[in-house]
Amino acid sequence: MRAVAWEGKNKVKINNVPDPEILNPRDAIVKVSLTAICGSDLHIYDGYIPTMKPGDVLGHEFMGEVVEVGSEVKNLTRGDWVVVPFAIACGRCFFCQQDLWSLCDNTNPNAWIADNLYRFSGAGLFGYSHMYGGYPGGQAEYVRVPFADVGPIKIYEDLRDEQVLFLSDIFPTGYMAAENCNIRPGDTVAVWGCGPVGLLAMKSAFMLGANRVIAIDRVTSRLRKAHEECCAETINYEQADVLETLKELTGGRGPDACIDAVGMEAHGVGPEYMYDRTKVALMLEMDRPIALRQAIHACRKGGTVSIPGVYGGLIDKFPIGAAFAKGLTLRMGQTHVHKYMRLLLDRIRRGDIDPSFVISHTMSLDEAPAAYQMFREKTDDCTKVVMKP
Ligand SMILES: [Zn+2]
Ligand SMILES: [Zn+2]
Repeated sequence: MRAVAWEGKNKVKINNVPDPEILNPRDAIVKVSLTAICGSDLHIYDGYIPTMKPGDVLGHEFMGEVVEVGSEVKNLTRGDWVVVPFAIACGRCFFCQQDLWSLCDNTNPNAWIADNLYRFSGAGLFGYSHMYGGYPGGQAEYVRVPFADVGPIKIYEDLRDEQVLFLSDIFPTGYMAAENCNIRPGDTVAVWGCGPVGLLAMKSAFMLGANRVIAIDRVTSRLRKAHEECCAETINYEQADVLETLKELTGGRGPDACIDAVGMEAHGVGPEYMYDRTKVALMLEMDRPIALRQAIHACRKGGTVSIPGVYGGLIDKFPIGAAFAKGLTLRMGQTHVHKYMRLLLDRIRRGDIDPSFVISHTMSLDEAPAAYQMFREKTDDCTKVVMKP
């Protein structure tokens, strides 16, 4: 079958690889109908995720048709249409039992690598390095889905693939980011990053009762989308001082909650950005926490900073003093996708939201190398690429 393989920094190609097979009784094989490139795939593309090997198949946002099931998968049959969560969860361990699906204890066969870095490992992830299990991803014609009796959600409704695909990651991720903000009616929420997760966090913030959403980015087309699609007020950080503007917009108090939907590869302006770039280049720092620092500084006293953006290692000049002095709540982590899929499918079905608005480009899987480059460079107003095998 054809699959998108990582070949090294800034290099992906289409490889011919063996078709996946059922290895365990709880596996299923899914024939992919639609898959997407995620912002977190760009961290791999840019070479920031350790333990990738040339030839690794990418992709953790995918859906399609069940073509084969293992003997213990009783809830799925051939021909079912499913969306698959990006984190793999066993459904039985201490963490799964507490709805903390992305922290599953049983699905990362390479947990020892993550143990070395973080002392504990989270769940295995599709197409996201050997540290997270080395599972081949969904940017391919077929995928083996482990624990298929737990993860995939069946789509019965007459909904287009584009409307439900993002239940696999970015819609639950944006929603959990907003839910983590503890929004009360009338709140103002500031969101750093107008990528797909940022946009879906904005929509979710309104769904959860926010009164105002303020979006921060530097790419005009993305800011426009935040304004037009998500009713956000916008700040272009290359044209305005973010902290001052947020203070003005909130009567001097600051936003009630701040969402960092940017993560480890943040861009910025001025000496602070140069500082992070230099430290990362010298390998004295692993991530560039520019958006995170701003979120902490901007947030009102007693507010919440929610971090759906991915961080991998150590950061520098973390304003713990400001967070402490203001009594902030910090919430973060990989999304517990399983917890949100049914709830959010209902939202889609009811017409509360159609997440397909984030898609800017539909391409063929064979165009993946160009798609990655375009998504990375944000050329042609690219906000989100979906690909059909
Ligand atoms: Zn993702
Ligand atoms: Zn588990």
